[in-house]
Amino acid sequence: MKNISRRQFLKGGAAAAAAGILGSIMPAAMAEEATFDREVDVLVIGGGGTGVAAACEAAEAGAEVLVVEKLGLMGGSTLMSGGMIHAWGTDEQAEYTGTTDDNADLMFNYYKGCGGGFIDDDVCYDMCVGSHDDFLWCKECGINYVTVFSVQNIPGLTEYIRPRIHLPGDETSGTAGIPGLGHFHVNPIWARAQAAGATCETNTAAKKLITNENGAVIGAVVENKDGEVRIKARKGVVLATSGYDYNVEMAKAMSKSQYIILTEEGNISGSCVGNTGDGIRMGMEVGAGLAGIGGAINVSLNGSIGRDPTSNVGGCTTGISVNKYGQRFVDEWCQYGYYMNAVFNQDDHICWTITDQAAVDREGGTAMGFTSEDLSADVEAGSVVKADTIEELAKAIGISAEGLATTLATWNADCAKGVDTAFGKTECLNPIEVGPFYAAKTASYNLGTLGGLKINTDAQVCRFDGTPIEHLYAGGLCTGGWAGQFYPGSGTAILSTVHWGRKAGRNAAANENI
Ligand SMILES: Cc1cc2nc3c(=O)[nH]c(=O)nc-3n(C[C@H](O)[C@H](O)[C@H](O)COP(=O)(O)OP(=O)(O)OC[C@H]3O[C@@H](n4cnc5c(N)ncnc54)[C@H](O)[C@@H]3O)c2cc1C
Repeated sequence: MKNISRRQFLKGGAAAAAAGILGSIMPAAMAEEATFDREVDVLVIGGGGTGVAAACEAAEAGAEVLVVEKLGLMGGSTLMSGGMIHAWGTDEQAEYTGTTDDNADLMFNYYKGCGGGFIDDDVCYDMCVGSHDDFLWCKECGINYVTVFSVQNIPGLTEYIRPRIHLPGDETSGTAGIPGLGHFHVNPIWARAQAAGATCETNTAAKKLITNENGAVIGAVVENKDGEVRIKARKGVVLATSGYDYNVEMAKAMSKSQYIILTEEGNISGSCVGNTGDGIRMGMEVGAGLAGIGGAINVSLNGSIGRDPTSNVGGCTTGISVNKYGQRFVDEWCQYGYYMNAVFNQDDHICWTITDQAAVDREGGTAMGFTSEDLSADVEAGSVVKADTIEELAKAIGISAEGLATTLATWNADCAKGVDTAFGKTECLNPIEVGPFYAAKTASYNLGTLGGLKINTDAQVCRFDGTPIEHLYAGGLCTGGWAGQFYPGSGTAILSTVHWGRKAGRNAAANENI
């Protein structure tokens, strides 16, 4: 380059190379002519929980709203969910649990305790304050709530925990929080959005955002069966595409546990298959920062001896959980997100739960989450390992026999005294001493990733320096800052979809046309 003038350099082949490099770091539309195939006021990308809430608010504010949904069905993970939502100070909380001393500060202290230094205090506090009103809005949409209950304990956070999990349903659905009740949440909100004029196109995936010369987002390129369509959004675009649940490359870069779940046998990813991190990627391409990245909603998979993995409120806790050194590392009775975070933090993320014949006789294999009362079918299938002695069991599962023996000596002595001296577990202090002994490997039933685009309290997508990207909004699981590395408990995610979805839709609709 020494002998080439700048003009010559730009004139030559290097110009093309430079343009290529710039193209990859500059907002795509800066290099493009902003021509469009059609126009709306607010374009919502993703038709799950966040999308319907955003569409509803935007349409009721008078905006022409189009939701584009990648799959053939609206609803996303929210439709597959239990529909539970966190809220404080509700009539239902008082009626079903007798709790009348809850407030936004207690809820914030709980979330902050779960999130450590990874949360954005302003964003998280805003969501906590709003949860009361967001819950009332859900009821106004026609959602009925049949019970309220609490997360399990997390060490150090007991004083901030209240029963805040509100379960939707009707007289036929019962009061057990099970996946599939999400329709009680999604359908009434989407019906209200449609009544206000919002429309949806399914089998339509957004590919990239379009920006103007100032970096404001003015539309998106979407793809449907007929090919690419360029849609102008006069007032704003809302990203509602959830996390990178099935994107192995993004998981590898951003979340250890999600990567393990997607790549190691035995784990199950249970969220919506459309969630491949598209919104996070598109936001990053126009300069968005990230927040709260790294975590995932991990629930221990049914069949782990130590706990009833799907329960927020308890279940069997027959055994202890140990790592490859044979050591315990967590109170097995604590909240599932906290428990799974501890599991993934062990060397080689190995966790086995151990129990004995006395527990099987006392509780029965099916209550422990297995398929046979005496565990014989599960041993046969290989999901449970059985051995006559602790030493043989340790050998069979490849962990330290010496470590396990030491751990069990302490555990059994603690059970005799009724005190868990290691982790303060308060329930099911049952000794493990009657052979044969059983072990099951803990795996995760994963409900999606945590963390995503950086937003402010107006649900505007922001750069790392905190400045908002004009006309770009986001909510739900494609955003971060309101949670940290582990999930605070059932109801948090759906709260994030309602709270940020509503704000995103409302604030986009309030913009001047661009
Ligand atoms: C089985 C199960 C049970 C759960 N139970 C609860 C519960 O009771 N309470 C709770 O709080 N949380 C629960 N969760 C978690 C919670 O449901 C989700 O985290 C949350 O609902 C996600 O909402 P969302 O709006 O961010 O994304 P989703 O509801 O998943 O919607 C995202 C949508 O965007 C679409 N999309 C993706 N990319 C594109 C694109 N490029 N263009 C167009 N569309 C796109 C997807 O197809 C999807 O439909 C559960 C999750 C599961 C899987």
